Amino acid sequence: MPTTPAAAAHIDHYIDGRVDDRGAETRSEVYNPATGQVSGLLALATIQDVDAAVQSAAKAFETWSLTPPHIRSRILFRFRDLVERETDRLAAIITAEHGKVLDDARGEVIRGLEVVEFACGIPQQLKGEFSENVSRAVDAMSLRQPLGVVAGISPFNFPAMVPMWMFPVALACGNTFVMKPSEKDPTLSVELAKLLTRAGLPDGVFNVVHGDKTAVDALLAHDDIEAVSFVGSTPIAEYVHQTATAHGKRVQALGGAKNHMVVMPDADLDQAVASLMGAAYGSAGERCMAISVVVPVGEDTANALRERLVAALDQLKVGPGTLDGVEMGPLVTKDHRDRVAGYLETGAQEGAELVVDGRQTQLPGHEGGFFLGGSLFDHVTPDMRIYREEIFGPVLTMVRAQSFAQALQLVNDHEFGNGTAIFTADGNTARTYLAKVKAGMVGVNVPIPVPMAFHSFGGWKRSLFGDHHIHGPEGVRFYTRYKTATTRWPNDSKVRAEFSMPTHG
Ligand code: NAD
Repeated sequence: MPTTPAAAAHIDHYIDGRVDDRGAETRSEVYNPATGQVSGLLALATIQDVDAAVQSAAKAFETWSLTPPHIRSRILFRFRDLVERETDRLAAIITAEHGKVLDDARGEVIRGLEVVEFACGIPQQLKGEFSENVSRAVDAMSLRQPLGVVAGISPFNFPAMVPMWMFPVALACGNTFVMKPSEKDPTLSVELAKLLTRAGLPDGVFNVVHGDKTAVDALLAHDDIEAVSFVGSTPIAEYVHQTATAHGKRVQALGGAKNHMVVMPDADLDQAVASLMGAAYGSAGERCMAISVVVPVGEDTANALRERLVAALDQLKVGPGTLDGVEMGPLVTKDHRDRVAGYLETGAQEGAELVVDGRQTQLPGHEGGFFLGGSLFDHVTPDMRIYREEIFGPVLTMVRAQSFAQALQLVNDHEFGNGTAIFTADGNTARTYLAKVKAGMVGVNVPIPVPMAFHSFGGWKRSLFGDHHIHGPEGVRFYTRYKTATTRWPNDSKVRAEFSMPTHG
């Protein structure tokens, strides 16, 4: 059993520009996955705590929404610089609570910062539309205005990047924010809140409440929340979408994934295998854009790919994310590790061939950590649970296809449609794949096609509920409401009562 060291820190909400020191009725344990020890005791919000954060945000909205966009942007510029200077410290916090290797943690901070950089250009994004003289001495303009208080609810797997997909654009557009990070690695959101305050963000514009279903449900039902951005698993994304829309809110809810990589016979196999190793086992497979299914086309491609993958897996360095040279850290919690290990049992029972079994990986001296080595299944078929369900761990499944058409059909028939990749040397095959595949993000010889911050991120099918993808231009649309005005100023011309529809003739 994990032990609780005396030093386990209290992790509290951040409300109205400061860490909330009112104490907590209940706390949950946060672990260091590399040691299995409890590293923090997290305050779990009550309905009253959530209300305190929303009230603070609602009050701050009155002035923040009227603050000129370039002034809002200046604060985000300062925040950007502070985060950049503190990247190593923030990465260490991520590794200590999530487990991913330090370089990977630094990478997610940088990918989050790219969204901040996009948000710094908000004056350009918020420029409206104007038409002069739509009738005599009448002008028309369209504006994008902030929504009000918006909420963000994030998963454990990117404690820096996913919150930064949400709040920089929301704040830049003039909204105020209540963030509910994952209860598994909550510290980073509080650190970001402190840096926003240091950058000059007024109190109450950005708040953090911690917690579980109670906190989420309180946000989804709160009368003063206008919109909800959610990222997490598909069942919860669907629940959040249904519940929050029933309460009249705008919702974007990004869900789970099962990302396929199709490998054509003409692909550069060295490139494909190197890409697959990073995409399947990086961050212990706990990425919504991880490749979890590889689909080689033709038996020769499958056999060659399998041989190289087995050799590469033999070299995969598993260990604590803080150690130099380690490529894959532990899983986030013991429960999650056991759940993923359970799929190895399930797949073998379903008749798939477990070619490499990650349970065999031994790490002397790290027995308390939530480690599992990389695994590979071959001869997986579409009816198996290990194919249909999201495992979210370092497990790659190989489904052999006999033709490009069969591979494409397989991808399109899956319930998820987050990302996908094709490896090929043929432009026409790649073009056809891009045109016909049912997924939101597609890579051509690129294994993890995560869009840059000035594009938008999101999947199709049951990987996204709602109409808007996240960050980039879609983020600006999501966090603003469109308004059109028609204006006339008193002048010498006579205005007569008109009883027919104005036609501006
Ligand atoms: P999760 O769905 O368990 O939790 C996400 C958030 O929902 C957390 O803040 C959690 O506290 C809250 N939550 C959990 N259960 C709830 C309930 N019953 N009612 C209300 N709220 C609840 O997801 P996770 O395990 O933290 O993260 C992994 C999942 O996130 C994977 O499915 C992964 O694919 C997905 N994900 C998707 C994307 C994407 O962009 N599509 C990105 C990252 C992660």
